Amino acid sequence: MIDSHTHSEFSADSRMPLDDLIRTAISLGLQYLAVTDHLDRDFLFCDSKDIPQIDLAPYAAAMSAAKMKYGKKIKLAFGVECGYSKDSEKMCFDELALYETDVVINSVHTVENRDVYVESYYDGKTKDEIFIPYINAIGESLEIETPYDIVGHIGYIARKAPFPFRYADYDGLFDGIFKRMIQKGKCLEINSHVKFAKADFFPGKDLVKRYKELGGELLTFSSDAHQTYRIADKYGLIAETAKSLGFKYYACYTKHKPEMFLI
Ligand SMILES: [Zn+2]
Ligand SMILES: [Zn+2]
Repeated sequence: MIDSHTHSEFSADSRMPLDDLIRTAISLGLQYLAVTDHLDRDFLFCDSKDIPQIDLAPYAAAMSAAKMKYGKKIKLAFGVECGYSKDSEKMCFDELALYETDVVINSVHTVENRDVYVESYYDGKTKDEIFIPYINAIGESLEIETPYDIVGHIGYIARKAPFPFRYADYDGLFDGIFKRMIQKGKCLEINSHVKFAKADFFPGKDLVKRYKELGGELLTFSSDAHQTYRIADKYGLIAETAKSLGFKYYACYTKHKPEMFLI
């Protein structure tokens, strides 16, 4: 098993000590674990400004110590989940240039400087008014200068949106995103942290299937765990889904190079 997306106490929304995260992953038998704490500079520009911000220096130091301590038992990757917005992109690029990360996940949590996790975001909006700007923000995020490896949780908006998030409704927009990802060599994650959504994982099987049909090969598994009990959550279900769609390997990033692990 592998897990390409987890959060420790260095993220504002997790209290999981880094040691607990790594030790649990080892006890579960994981071969590869990426710790990808939030670099959410996008929130500095949006309506949820009060979210505490990470200091990357102590996080980087803790990860390098953890690699020394646990490196023989598990392949550890020092990662960041970078929240995209037009206004914060330069800030993230400049900051990340100072660190030797292994993996960067490029995620959209805010749309037009509004936090889509806040329920009032959806008040009075139609399905198109919710999904089209979100999908377009993902499309924009693919072009950032920050070197990223994985496109995070496509469909995250379905955690709170009052409509299902389906390939068939926006096929042209999704095809554009997948084609661009494939062209740029970016990896799609299947993320099992759906919270309130009526789904098993993001993006749904209909979307992953289309990515594969268009020639997508780079795929990874992400629990997005913020607590120890969620590490590698739904691994079996997602592995079976990926295999049924014809995927044989998960890509796991070290120094931004994918290594393929048999699913
Ligand atoms: Zn996220
Ligand atoms: Zn995350």
